[in-house]
Amino acid sequence: NVRDDAVSIVRQVLRDREERAREFARLVAENPALQQKLARGDAAGAEQVFSPLAEHLRLDWAAVVDNRAQVLALHRAEGSQVDFLPQLPQLLGPQAAIAYTTAEEMGGMRFAVARVRVETSGGKPLGAVVVAQALPRELLAKAADIESESQAYEAITRERKTYRWQAVLILLLITILLLLATTWSALHLAQQVTVPIQALAVATQEISQGNLDYRVEVPARDELGNLVTSFNQMTAQLRDSRRRLEQAVAELERRRQWMEAILESIPTGVITLGPHRRILAANDAARKLLGRPVAEGSSLSELLGREAAEACGELFARAGQMGFAAAERELHLEHRIAHVAVSVSALRAGPGEGYVLVLDDLTDLLKAQKAAAWQEVAQRIAHEIKNPLTPIQLSADRIRRYLERLPAADAREDDRYRQLIARCASLIGQEVHGLKLLVDEFSRFARFPAAQPVPTQLNEIVQDALALYADSANGIQFRSELAGDLPAVPADAALLRRVLLNLLENAAEAVARAERKEIVVRTRYLASQKAIELSVTDSGPGISAEDKERLFLPFFSTKPEGMGLGLAIVSRIVAEHHGRIHVEDNRPSGARFVVELPVEAPVLT
Ligand code: ADP
Repeated sequence: NVRDDAVSIVRQVLRDREERAREFARLVAENPALQQKLARGDAAGAEQVFSPLAEHLRLDWAAVVDNRAQVLALHRAEGSQVDFLPQLPQLLGPQAAIAYTTAEEMGGMRFAVARVRVETSGGKPLGAVVVAQALPRELLAKAADIESESQAYEAITRERKTYRWQAVLILLLITILLLLATTWSALHLAQQVTVPIQALAVATQEISQGNLDYRVEVPARDELGNLVTSFNQMTAQLRDSRRRLEQAVAELERRRQWMEAILESIPTGVITLGPHRRILAANDAARKLLGRPVAEGSSLSELLGREAAEACGELFARAGQMGFAAAERELHLEHRIAHVAVSVSALRAGPGEGYVLVLDDLTDLLKAQKAAAWQEVAQRIAHEIKNPLTPIQLSADRIRRYLERLPAADAREDDRYRQLIARCASLIGQEVHGLKLLVDEFSRFARFPAAQPVPTQLNEIVQDALALYADSANGIQFRSELAGDLPAVPADAALLRRVLLNLLENAAEAVARAERKEIVVRTRYLASQKAIELSVTDSGPGISAEDKERLFLPFFSTKPEGMGLGLAIVSRIVAEHHGRIHVEDNRPSGARFVVELPVEAPVLT
């Protein structure tokens, strides 16, 4: 629209100019003075009238011609070179109209050229006036610009579709490039986030599986970088704490093992119980003392039996109040009666309450004390009895000798008295002899010869002793199971022989009354205890729990004529060899006497 308006304005202006030129031409043509001059053919007069008029109207070029196309007057603006005379015939020519305007180029300028006929009022043609007015150069230039731009615009308009496609293509290309760039930068940015997060996820998995040495090595920036650094610091701290924890646990475990080793190696039985007197743990000595495995969680009466548990029950009540209670108790265990120093401590420290039951087996100690007491009694009795025996014996002998030397009496009465006295004297002599034998046995028990230990092969002693019984077996089957690797023991062979003969004698007496008569002698080496074991097993009636208690005491015998010193002497000999003797039940029946002798004599300090 702007273009069209501009073009129309330019055209309008040009038309306006042309009209002005025509108007000027008409003004000149209608001048009556000029008409008169023309009518007369007065060129000079016409010139006179025309020139001031043309000056006044500021015409660039003007001419007045008569009917014969003769120029009567001519006007040219000052300094102007234009001259339309050559074009005059053309301008005056064919156009019939009174006024006529055209545009002409001259000297690089454009002119609006108007031609108006000069006529009289009666319509008689007198000539014509031709006026040329220059059109403004700038306006023309503008009009030319507008024209050329308009043409260019036309051309562009024609190519608009192509341009549009090109623009669309360029936009599309830019869009694709932008998209590519955005996608690439988005991926790049995303990678900066996702790669560390993925590494962190993997690290978390590794750490949850216990690999605390794992580190996140992925480079990361900003908050993620801080996160990765904190994560690595956290795992390092975790690893350090775990190491410290493991060290502490190992130390605790070492201490626990140490405590356990101490508990297991002491000869005193230790049982720990919970607040409800349920057993938590027991050491090896306790298990040995009780002669049975100790089940965790069992009650005291299940472990010791009802009687023994009751015997200890009152100690628990006292310990509950005072913290500690101790007493000596006789515990009737399954296989034996044990004299035990029982002490109970209540645990008040620590998170849980409970008790510690300490059992000290005094059976052997008491046995030894009793044996020592008996020894002293025996010594005294032997001494006290022996003193009057000799005078009694001598007196009886004297009486007998006196009676023998007495002349034979007649009286029957006398003879009867003599016989009575002689019988009494001989009875006294016999009994004194018997008493002397008893006292001698006493003395042997009391003043026992000290053992002279030399390296001795126990197997040889066993073989010798069994050889003695070979002849007088009395239907008894003797068997020996002797260990081949038995080391020599420091022992007095004569005393050991006595031990074995005593045990064999008792076993033989025990099986005499039994249906199955079998005696087995075994030897074996106890490497862990560095001791050798000698056992004599019989198939006799066995020994009751009460008898087992008193078996090794002097003067305990179940036999009518028994002295009850055999096992007391055996026990002493074994004690002198730093050994131990105990009796246990044989299955299905009978008793087994077990002697343990150390291979190396202990160093006494
Ligand atoms: P004695 O043989 O003089 O009785 P001991 O000291 O040798 O004295 O034995 C004491 C008691 O031990 C015996 O009276 C007997 O009751 C019991 N005894 C010993 N050995 C056995 C055995 N193998 N089987 C059963 N009882 C035994």
